[in-house]
Amino acid sequence: MRETKSTCPYCGVGCGVIIETGTQHNINAITAVRGDAEHPANFGKLCSKGSTLHLTLSPAARALYPALRSHRREARQRVSWDTALDTAAEKFARCIQDHGPDSVAFYISGQLLTEDYYIFNKLAKGLIGTNNVDTNSRLCMSSAVAGYKATLGADAPPCAYEDIDAAACIFIVGSNTAYAHPILFRRIEAARAKNPHLKLIVVDPRRTETASEADLFLQIKPGSDVALFNAMLHVMLNEGLLDDNYIRDHTDGFAALSLTLQDYAPTAVADSVGISASSITDAARLFAKSPATLSLYCQGLNQSSHGTDKNAAIINLHLATGHIGKPGAGPFSLTGQPNAMGGREVGGMANLLSAHRDLANATHRAEVAKLWGLDSVPAAPGKTAVALFDALHDGSIKCVWIACTNPAQSMPNQSLIREALARAEFVVLQECYTDTETARHADLLLPATTWSEKDGTVTNSERRISRQCAAIAAPGETRHDWQIAVDFAHALAAKLGSPLGTKLFPYQCAEDIFNEHRETTRGRDLDISGLTYAILETRGPQQWPFADGALTGKTRLYADGIFPTANGRAQFANTAQKSAAEQTSEKFPLILNTGRLRDQWHAMSRTGRAAQLYAHAAEPVITMHPADITARQLSGGDLVSITGARGAMVLPVAASGDMAVGNAFLPMHWGSRFMKGGGINELTSGVVDATSHQPELKYAAIEVAAVRLPWRLVAMAYVDGADAALEKLAPHFDAFDYATCGLAGRNQPIVVFRGASFTKISGERLAAIDAVLNIDAHALTFTDEKYSIHRAAKMSDGKLAAFRLSGDLCSQDWLGEWLETLMDTGSSGYHLVSGSARPPMATIPRGRVVCSCHNVATNEIAACFANGGDVADAQEALKCGTGCGSCVPELKRMAQASFELRQIQKRQPEHRADKVAA
Ligand code: SF4
Repeated sequence: MRETKSTCPYCGVGCGVIIETGTQHNINAITAVRGDAEHPANFGKLCSKGSTLHLTLSPAARALYPALRSHRREARQRVSWDTALDTAAEKFARCIQDHGPDSVAFYISGQLLTEDYYIFNKLAKGLIGTNNVDTNSRLCMSSAVAGYKATLGADAPPCAYEDIDAAACIFIVGSNTAYAHPILFRRIEAARAKNPHLKLIVVDPRRTETASEADLFLQIKPGSDVALFNAMLHVMLNEGLLDDNYIRDHTDGFAALSLTLQDYAPTAVADSVGISASSITDAARLFAKSPATLSLYCQGLNQSSHGTDKNAAIINLHLATGHIGKPGAGPFSLTGQPNAMGGREVGGMANLLSAHRDLANATHRAEVAKLWGLDSVPAAPGKTAVALFDALHDGSIKCVWIACTNPAQSMPNQSLIREALARAEFVVLQECYTDTETARHADLLLPATTWSEKDGTVTNSERRISRQCAAIAAPGETRHDWQIAVDFAHALAAKLGSPLGTKLFPYQCAEDIFNEHRETTRGRDLDISGLTYAILETRGPQQWPFADGALTGKTRLYADGIFPTANGRAQFANTAQKSAAEQTSEKFPLILNTGRLRDQWHAMSRTGRAAQLYAHAAEPVITMHPADITARQLSGGDLVSITGARGAMVLPVAASGDMAVGNAFLPMHWGSRFMKGGGINELTSGVVDATSHQPELKYAAIEVAAVRLPWRLVAMAYVDGADAALEKLAPHFDAFDYATCGLAGRNQPIVVFRGASFTKISGERLAAIDAVLNIDAHALTFTDEKYSIHRAAKMSDGKLAAFRLSGDLCSQDWLGEWLETLMDTGSSGYHLVSGSARPPMATIPRGRVVCSCHNVATNEIAACFANGGDVADAQEALKCGTGCGSCVPELKRMAQASFELRQIQKRQPEHRADKVAA
């Protein structure tokens, strides 16, 4: 066995991992992943996603060789790298020569390594002469960047994770940290356990797992953040809670802002914010009076048509109270992706240049041109993500190169994105998987190495640069992302007759690129001129800046109150509350919010391959307040139609008191690979913030209504090659009005297909689905043609191996559990297809899995709490919450709910527990 230190490829916490490899079937393979106890981001902990990384590698779905199609209607055929690169270079060169450099574009990813990012930026801006290079980080962090730059003068989160331990008050806004940044939330839990006086304020339109931990929870109306922050500042100003010395010595612009604040008395804005004036005042006092307040915020502020204002307004609070540049304090934007920070550092966006330089700044352009040995770099702003796909749609961009991202799932307004990709003259996709939603649109698929196979660096939320290292060899003909871009640059330069190919791209390895990037940062705010791969490997991950001669990086910025602005002073932003771009109406009266679940990541390209990550949420469900459900004569679990201005879909609905009336929530992860239609982003809006150009993914007007789909189907089966089976099932979605597919089980994946239709599905269709799931002629069957009921169950070695129910689904729960638990079916053959809602043998239903690490489900936990146990008892008895800890917030909620139930029962003994629960 060999061990390799690397970094988790998911969220911006940037946890260190140790990859264990060993020989399996005569090849070196990953056998396990565990947290790196020496990494300062996680000290050995990993969440449910990080700890299952070794289950997501799915060799069958890997892109292993280049594939090209000569016509859109044809399938891609395997080609050599030479043919692939020559074809791509020919297409791009002809487009550039005929239509100019801005007729091509690159859409890259916050999951690329810094070295990959650097090459793409140089390829577009240095070789081709276009600034049309943007990234999925535009959907994630660009408002945070714009907010920092507008106020503090640079895109530099000033805080560090250790500030959590030193804070006296933590102010979390627009972030379900417990789900989206779980290991950071573990650190908050630990800090609160150590310091019971540490206050937690959470601001969110939903009562999330994070909110349930709060001392003060402010359930605001979606989009009203600026009004809340200004009202808090109004209170601080009126009550003399500001740090006047700090404002005087280190900031500009407070006088203008204080005039604006006059309109933000808590009583004046309470209704529009949706909370009481007194809770605004409480939050303001807690924030200002605390010795050190740390704000943590994420997509709730960023993904908004006025996300820059929201970011700037929260920073205003810190500048006004002096809660910045000292231990435990500061405005700390949590990065969504593993390397959104690294991408910004090398200028890998349409408005940036290397080392935090601005494209709009002529001096910065000249500096970059000199560093690259060029006369100039292009000045015209490039197209940002939404504009880039709009330009592909209207034909002004003709060729697009997409790397390591899945815009056919993740971009808002999906129907437009699909049309744009269909209209493009040439789509190149550089990917490690063949089956993503975007892969369907690729004319040329170039196989890239992925996590555990490639070398480079990433930067996490606290400016900490870590190494990502190869633990296994690159499979098949895959090449590293930077290497593909370099090879293409050489081929393109030759086609263009440019001598710049080898001059600009002389690199032999990732470290060569890092060393060049390092030089571009010399003297800049993120100066890493003193950092090397050797330092990162021997002394561990380091924060920037790390200038030449430094022994360590800088934990915290702006301790001296000097900011990277022209006069060294921070700038208050004069922010005012604005309306969301899309308004609710009689037709679309509900506000749709989208966000992350605990166990899935982004578009499920990776997590969607690990069966156990579906245990927490098997399929997408729209969650609404019970009153909104009742008003529409719905019940929890019903299938409903969800409609908006841009699209529609059918999904199950769930009732939750955690939602406010008038609000709905959908998880962001599901795309057309796993559900009928264009996925969740069929509903979201492409309207962008005017400064950051980040789209408003968290606010769309929709309506939810009952839908009558009497004909239902559910099928589950153990299948060799689950990825291939899912790919074969997706074309059947169109035959249904509602359809999803996914996985279940743990060690051996079970493929799941669910569908519903207004009319009966044909026997041929059912046979085709059965064929994918290996439900063959040997299966037990039951047919009632009069009621269109068909049931099939297949056994293997005395255990249920597959079943398909169509027409009625009464027996699906126990059949699903029997399948997952490999229950011995004994002599119950007939019962498997009887349609009975109860199993023939008394078994206790387990319910939904809460603890993914130890496979502990709701009913087992509920039984423990019902007997008076608390979280510690459940942990001891069932081990739940003792692995990665991601389920601990949910366990606490369940314990609290159980306690409240017992209190009700004590007061109303005639109520049986199940009645009260119902
Ligand atoms: Fe990976 Fe989880 Fe750590 Fe994020 S919190 S980096 S997803 S292990």
